[in-house]
Amino acid sequence: MKTAVWLGPRKIEIIERPKPVLKPGEVLIQVESVGVCGSDIHYYLDGKIGDQIITPPLVLGHEFSGIVCEVPDKKYEWLLGQRVAVEPGIACGQCDYCKTGHYNVCTDMRFLGGPGCDGALSEYIAVPAEYCFPVPSTISAPIASMVEPTAVAIHAVELAGIRPVETALVVGLGSIGLLTAQLLLQSGISFIAGIDILPFRTAVAEQLGVRQTLTTTAENCIEESTSWIREITDNRGFDVTFDCTNRSEGIVIACHGTRPAGRSVLVGISGENYDRIPVSIARRRELKLQWCRRFRYNFPSAIQFIELGKIKLEPILTHHFLPEQTQLAFEMVAHTEDNLIKASIDWV
Ligand SMILES: [Zn+2]
Ligand SMILES: [Zn+2]
Repeated sequence: MKTAVWLGPRKIEIIERPKPVLKPGEVLIQVESVGVCGSDIHYYLDGKIGDQIITPPLVLGHEFSGIVCEVPDKKYEWLLGQRVAVEPGIACGQCDYCKTGHYNVCTDMRFLGGPGCDGALSEYIAVPAEYCFPVPSTISAPIASMVEPTAVAIHAVELAGIRPVETALVVGLGSIGLLTAQLLLQSGISFIAGIDILPFRTAVAEQLGVRQTLTTTAENCIEESTSWIREITDNRGFDVTFDCTNRSEGIVIACHGTRPAGRSVLVGISGENYDRIPVSIARRRELKLQWCRRFRYNFPSAIQFIELGKIKLEPILTHHFLPEQTQLAFEMVAHTEDNLIKASIDWV
């Protein structure tokens, strides 16, 4: 089978590999679409995210959909032939966190497309049947690959504990930020604002219902953003803020933008081992900082949200590539070329 293999920083090649052999409880998926995530880009460029280091050869890709094409275990026969979205974090099921429902912070997690574990940029992948979530036929394969980032956004909004008529700020309007903003609009938020450094992203955010946006420069984003936030909130700040950026500055802006006794959900991945936090402000305002680790039982509601048309994914999924163009896709995502927001690599 054809597989796109990461061979080192900025190097992905299509290599012929044998089809996976199924382990007990697994099914074989014929991969249809794989989304390129910001975290994939950190691995692609640097081979690491903080202290998580990958070694070549490795297959990236954890946001994917496909057709279940082999089911050895009768118990899961009902999955055969179905299009599914797959949860990519395979938890151990045994540790204290798995046993108390916090499987997303399992201490023995295997993550498809993470350190030591091949991901989905391939014609076929073997996955545990229990991690497959069938999607209705009305959802196309590329859209189904976006169930995973939608689940992240749902988890982020859940963690924020939104109350009706609160105000919210989303810092970083890439796919996670735009999904988070749309979910916030469904959650009774009275006013939502967004910040990004790319004008085409703030434009899409406004189309999707974000009331006010700021396109800031990368160099002075902290100063520009904080003075804008003060201006549009009458010096008050937002009840809840979300960092959905891929840079350390995102956390700083989110903290500055949060009102006293407010909270900030940190969803973005800067790729650093240590980020800066404006502790003086965070302490004086008694902010609650809430980190977000992927998702936790959010795939079914993500699929429902998409099926009901409650969130729009088409304006976010801007680019499609062939498997042979995987390296090009990663380069274009890394440089946000051609007004790209989200790219999928379509295998069939
Ligand atoms: Zn992702
Ligand atoms: Zn575990």
